[in-house]
Amino acid sequence: MEYRRLGSSGLKLSALSFGAWVTFGRQVDTAAAREMLAEAHANGVNFFDNAEVYAHGAAEQVMGEALHALALPRDGYCVSSKAYFGRLPDPAPTQRGLSRKHLTEACQQALRRLRVEYLDLFFCHRPDQDTPVEEVVISMDSLIRQGKVLYWGTSEWPAAAITAAAAFARAEHLIGPQMEQPQYNLLHRERVEQEYAPLYAQIGLGTTTWSPLASGLLTGKYAGGVPEQSRLGQNDYEWLRESVLGADNGRNARRAARLPALAAELGCTPAQLAIAWCLRNPQVSTVILGASRVAQLRENLGALDVHQRLDDAAWRHFEAVFAAA
Ligand code: NDP
Repeated sequence: MEYRRLGSSGLKLSALSFGAWVTFGRQVDTAAAREMLAEAHANGVNFFDNAEVYAHGAAEQVMGEALHALALPRDGYCVSSKAYFGRLPDPAPTQRGLSRKHLTEACQQALRRLRVEYLDLFFCHRPDQDTPVEEVVISMDSLIRQGKVLYWGTSEWPAAAITAAAAFARAEHLIGPQMEQPQYNLLHRERVEQEYAPLYAQIGLGTTTWSPLASGLLTGKYAGGVPEQSRLGQNDYEWLRESVLGADNGRNARRAARLPALAAELGCTPAQLAIAWCLRNPQVSTVILGASRVAQLRENLGALDVHQRLDDAAWRHFEAVFAAA
């Protein structure tokens, strides 16, 4: 495994990490979660990502039970949660957003579900127009000073809002945001590469990036239709199916269709190639993998070898063919 600093912090995360969205508490029960977390940890993965909203709290519960059963040393791994959407399907006004009340409650509840005494990383899952950024910074600073959180960050915040939070923290001698969790993959790269570009040097921002396979599209599994046993084949994920495979995304489907041949040429699988591409960006602190079964996780962890093996010429060839589709 390769380890990378989380931005300017001293925390070293594994370049490949593992998350629970859609899977834990839905497709993946505690026994399967335990198997996958053990496999990830045995391969050097030291960061497991979660959120209050994933499976309405069940994803954290399952991860907590599995981590507890595995009895991994707490100083050897990092775990996260995120607050904003709320845990319940129809949350009351105080049960969602980024108010001091909800951030405090969400943190306490995540600690209980995950069965840990502190969260290594705690994210504001989206910006909240109804909470002043000053309140967010003060709340997160307070959770850190209470020992409940070690690092706080944002997820899918505009660069201007991250800059405002960092400036307020600096002026008031409070602890500012350390990391952002954006989507980053071959089909979705502008925010990480352009919008956030000044923030890496200015505030030492780290990134824990999500959906390296665009929910599976970049594995090639959707080329011939939607398999029933797949993320986009699930009944209540029509919105995601539309967003990944909808009529507006023809170009993405065409580009994804290029991957199998390119991967075969380069001696790896499409998933490994897509994940290795994310690792090429030095501003990516860790690529969060998703998997619904252990075989996928094993395959995806092989992306690290591909990243180490492919040279600049191979990547230039790849980028040229991929972009031409
Ligand atoms: P991916 O884009 O990699 O999608 C993962 C899914 O693709 C798997 O669950 C599986 O679904 C399928 N898959 C994975 N590997 C393979 C393979 N080798 N062959 C075939 N199919 C495969 O990542 P996620 O979208 O899951 O994102 C990763 C993590 O990032 C999440 O778990 C979460 O922790 C975080 N995240 C954060 C967000 C945020 O807003 N901050 C938003 C989204 C994710 P299946 O088998 O069911 O088809």
